[in-house]
Amino acid sequence: MKIYNSLTNKKEDFHPISEGKIKMYACGPTVYNYFHIGNARPFLFFDLVKRYFEYQKYDVTYVQNITDIDDKIINKANEENVSTDEIAKKFIKAFYDDTAKLGIRKPDHQPLATEYIQKMIDLISKLEKTGYAYEVEGDVYFSVSSFKDYGKLSGKKLEDLQAGARVEENSNKKSSFDFTLWKKAKPGEPKWDSPWGEGRPGWHTECVVMSQTLLGESFDIHGGGIDLIFPHHENEIAQGEAITGKPLANYWMHNGFLNIKGEKMSKSLGNFFTARDILKLYDSEAIRMFFLSKHYRSPIDFSEELIKESMKSVDNFYSTLKRFEYLKWNTEFSGEYFDDDFKNNFDAAMDDDFNTAKAIAVLFDLNKKIKSDDILDDERKKLIVTLVNLGKVLGFFQNLNLKLKPEITDLSGQLIEVLIEIRNEARIAKNWELSDKIRDRLKKIGVELKDGKTGTDWNLIN
Ligand code: AMP
Ligand code: ZN
Repeated sequence: MKIYNSLTNKKEDFHPISEGKIKMYACGPTVYNYFHIGNARPFLFFDLVKRYFEYQKYDVTYVQNITDIDDKIINKANEENVSTDEIAKKFIKAFYDDTAKLGIRKPDHQPLATEYIQKMIDLISKLEKTGYAYEVEGDVYFSVSSFKDYGKLSGKKLEDLQAGARVEENSNKKSSFDFTLWKKAKPGEPKWDSPWGEGRPGWHTECVVMSQTLLGESFDIHGGGIDLIFPHHENEIAQGEAITGKPLANYWMHNGFLNIKGEKMSKSLGNFFTARDILKLYDSEAIRMFFLSKHYRSPIDFSEELIKESMKSVDNFYSTLKRFEYLKWNTEFSGEYFDDDFKNNFDAAMDDDFNTAKAIAVLFDLNKKIKSDDILDDERKKLIVTLVNLGKVLGFFQNLNLKLKPEITDLSGQLIEVLIEIRNEARIAKNWELSDKIRDRLKKIGVELKDGKTGTDWNLIN
């Protein structure tokens, strides 16, 4: 397995610290808004990294933080005249809901920054005692010149940085690239007690503390979007390695941007679509296909055309499963079955720095072969099972039972939905004669209705 490591700018052979075990961390959202479809790229991708390692029988621990205290959250709370807590709670819930809708699984740990404040204070105190940090009037800064490896991830040299930097006004920092570890609270801001007075930790401190607490001083993979290399990840390295002298993470992985009209999609530029809105228009597997059709490090342009194309590719897989009546015989196979040739090609693609575009091409080939006339039924079944099992590694086919119901594309399914709607209107009007008639007549042709709290569902009965 090879992974492109941003630390060395090379594809490297992957060796975990402990045989068979992988510890990975990816930066999560700052919860002050609905996340946009660009943010969804790392969320989806790092879950996929975990899925792939699990398929390769690794025991994976995946941590993704939630930044629930930050200037942006404070600003938003002030704008809306509510507490930061209220803002954070609202958007944490939205984050859970929208990632679930995108088919992204929950990581093993999803720590909130506010639950780790004491540990952050402990780290900052240690950095201060060992000479890496200094306090000025209630603010604490990391002194970048005290850490000899500063710049090793981003490739930036401190001398160059400092030469180009303007001296900030009203700053107590000794050097403009020193970064904030602890920020003194202004009146009305959320605050915690500390040896330097009341305040809150800086963002870079949050991530390093949560990752090292849950995964240890050194772990295997640290990930995030490419914009986080500098200063965020560079500053995590400085804090995480200054005292331990050990690498914070061995492999640093960064996804490319989702662009829109050639520019990074971002909250601050205002050129974004929330994942929530996109999910109202497109199926989550179409969005998944849209992202995975490109290598994770390549930039990708947001295009509704491409999402629609992606939906067609996904539909193609489902129509194969329907045509060959997968749900009728799939229990004949154990969940572990794979055709060797296709599996080998799929693995080779994924082992090459998660080349999902190539892995998807393998699924297309497989789909083509399944549909060809010159294979026997038995072989076809094995290939279909392979398609489903490899597809699941990429996060497709999560709701097979639901998707393979005829309602989604078939006219007959749509007609059943129309009848259910008319029956519900009849029930509201207490026209029991009509509503019972619809139910009974449908039953006679093999469609059973079930009334539940969220509406009426239906199933085919034999
Ligand atoms: P934020 O909530 O802004 O801290 O971002 C959460 C994650 O989304 C980080 O890993 C960012 O690097 C990533 N990200 C932000 N904008 C984009 C984008 N346009 N394309 C891909 N990833 C992004
Ligand atoms: Zn982070």
